[in-house]
Amino acid sequence: MSTKKSDLLLRKPKNGYDRITSAERQEMKDYCEGYKAFLDEGRTERECVIEIIRQAEARGYRPYIRGEAVKTGDKLYRVEGNKAIMLAVIGSESLENGAVIGDAHIDNPRLDLKPRPLYEDSDGMARFKTHYYGGIRKYQWASIPLSLHGVICMKDGSTITVRLGDEPGDPQLTIPDLLPHLADKQAKEPLWLAISAEDLNPVVGSEPYPDEDESDRIKLMVMALLNEKYGIVEQDFSSAELCAVPALRTADIGLDRSMVGAFGQDDRVCAYATLKALFDAENTLQRTGIAVFCDKEEIGSYGVTGMDSSYFDRFLSDLCDAQQVNLKTCIERSFCLSADVTTAYDTNYTFAYEKRNACYVNYGVGISKYTGSHGKSGASDASAELLAYARRILDEDGVVWQIGELGRVDNGGGGTIAHYMARRGIPTLDAGTPILAMHAPFEVTAKLDCYMTYRAMRAFFNH
Ligand code: MN
Ligand code: MN
Repeated sequence: MSTKKSDLLLRKPKNGYDRITSAERQEMKDYCEGYKAFLDEGRTERECVIEIIRQAEARGYRPYIRGEAVKTGDKLYRVEGNKAIMLAVIGSESLENGAVIGDAHIDNPRLDLKPRPLYEDSDGMARFKTHYYGGIRKYQWASIPLSLHGVICMKDGSTITVRLGDEPGDPQLTIPDLLPHLADKQAKEPLWLAISAEDLNPVVGSEPYPDEDESDRIKLMVMALLNEKYGIVEQDFSSAELCAVPALRTADIGLDRSMVGAFGQDDRVCAYATLKALFDAENTLQRTGIAVFCDKEEIGSYGVTGMDSSYFDRFLSDLCDAQQVNLKTCIERSFCLSADVTTAYDTNYTFAYEKRNACYVNYGVGISKYTGSHGKSGASDASAELLAYARRILDEDGVVWQIGELGRVDNGGGGTIAHYMARRGIPTLDAGTPILAMHAPFEVTAKLDCYMTYRAMRAFFNH
């Protein structure tokens, strides 16, 4: 043990690679292979729900029906509106002692199709009108391959699933950018104005319908193809949820393969960590563990599938009823980890960060005591008492963690679902994976941090 005064008194951060064992290093690699597969499988919240159900049912989870008895070790789930899902494993202790909750969102920024999307224009092309969902930097969405995902719900009650553009050989969409030769004027526009929201219209066709007597022949050709493939007519778009997402495959980043590049890592990196942590804690849980995968975080958490909705309360209430436990007591003794990404320090953009309170790649899961903007406005702000509890659990379990803020004060800001859980009276702490290029079509995380987010979640479930 060092006797140097600075070793004793000063915080001396150490790169995670210098702290993990070779066994942990292997576990990290294996974990990230599962994570990458999860990313390619679920590219919308609906697809994530389907994939989570598939994995959960394979492990013996069953839908929980209100009024059913529960016993220790029961593995349950409940879906809300096909876009949010909750998993619970009943612990050996009563819900009287509270639950341990991990909450991550499975929606993410993208281009939603408008209710009347399809049109053709005088340039001889048909396009989709879109309305972006969540906070995007619009210029990033031009000239990249896009795929089409979602559902079309028919009046007869049937649902058509669309998933087009990700498999080799699939047709794709794209929004062609302006050529640099003619971009003098556009290049002088502020970044956020250079490409406007109403310009985000992916090209979907250019071949006219063969019958020269028809009108709108290019649009008609696209509609004819959609009719042939899905049996739909134009009016069916009015009961559809379709979106364009980047058709970019998940990849290892870096010659050392130390990072993951993919679309939608905010917040599927934490969703997968929460899922895997609950699975791996199934047999060691004392308190009941609940994993919440919510929707609508990127647009304010409203709507029946967002955390502003009561679905979580109803689920927890049903579980408490099954154990004849007072819901209020359970809530007061529960703990929630609001698992959402934070940003990683990037020296290309030093102006945006405060380096003494930033999170860094490979320094582990990032804890945020508070989020918010302009004087912590909108922050949940976890208590010092709760931070002390978290530090103890993470350190006891050998989790590599760091604590920081999103960026320079008054540079902007952001929020998570933490305050929705806190409003219910549940002590809630924000923590998640530091990420580069958050909300971009291709986001980057460090594998060590992905793995440590899982380790953190597992440590909390086990306490
Ligand atoms: Mn997020
Ligand atoms: Mn986000």
